[in-house]
Amino acid sequence: MEVALITVGDELLSGDTVDTNATWLADRLTDRGVAVGRILSLPDDRETIADHVADYSALFDRVIVTGGIGGTPDDVTMEAVADAFDRELAASALTREAVDQRLAELKQRLPDRDLAVDREAEAAIPAGSRPLINEAGLAPGCVVDDVYVLPGIPGELKAMFDSVADEFAGDRRSEFIYTVEPEANIVWALEEAMDRFEVTVGCYPDREADHNRLKLTATDDTELADATDWLLSNINASETPVSREWVDDA
Ligand code: ATP
Ligand code: MG
Repeated sequence: MEVALITVGDELLSGDTVDTNATWLADRLTDRGVAVGRILSLPDDRETIADHVADYSALFDRVIVTGGIGGTPDDVTMEAVADAFDRELAASALTREAVDQRLAELKQRLPDRDLAVDREAEAAIPAGSRPLINEAGLAPGCVVDDVYVLPGIPGELKAMFDSVADEFAGDRRSEFIYTVEPEANIVWALEEAMDRFEVTVGCYPDREADHNRLKLTATDDTELADATDWLLSNINASETPVSREWVDDA
């Protein structure tokens, strides 16, 4: 399964907010064997979001969109996703009930505060979509076709993703090995490993740890194990982290 992530919000593009949602989702999906094919951040612009959701929905098995589902004027994601599928927005009995329940809880916590919430707008999702109840916040998410619309607030996003995580699965797996060899010295081996076996190998220098981390990824266990063994026998590499300092001292 290949998934694309779209994170929405002007604050992500201006650098005001670090896009931790994308990293968190990518990590979760990778753990489940899913290939993440794109991570795209978009401004709070309805047409731009609608266009990219429609494009990615055609290109990928699933799309996850996060951010901009609340009730402020900059929250245009639900409208945009409805546009992408040529649907209207509509509240359902289930989403109204969920919003009412959350509002009642909020009222209990803030008894002196008037809550000017547009319940109908908060509960609205694209017509005919599957609602995802927001256990940690107000606005529901939804699933339209292969597009999952989730909240932007990290705690809410995590809770909602966990409720649908089982719908994401793939057969990609990875192994890490570590080497103190300079990158230039192992280019031949990385190329040969990718020629010999059905794997991709990424090389990630870590200056602080003073080693290069090699990540082998495959969809077949035997190919992955054989490629890992081949690299371990052909370059100075280890299955556990090593640093140049330790090797030089030895
Ligand atoms: P609300 O219903 O509260 O409006 P929302 O789903 O509309 O939530 P946003 O309005 O887009 O979400 O963002 C709410 C907050 O969540 C932002 O202030 C920001 O701090 C945080 N946030 C949004 N997107 C991300 C992201 N990709 N990574 C990390 N934090 C994010
Ligand atoms: Mg918002």
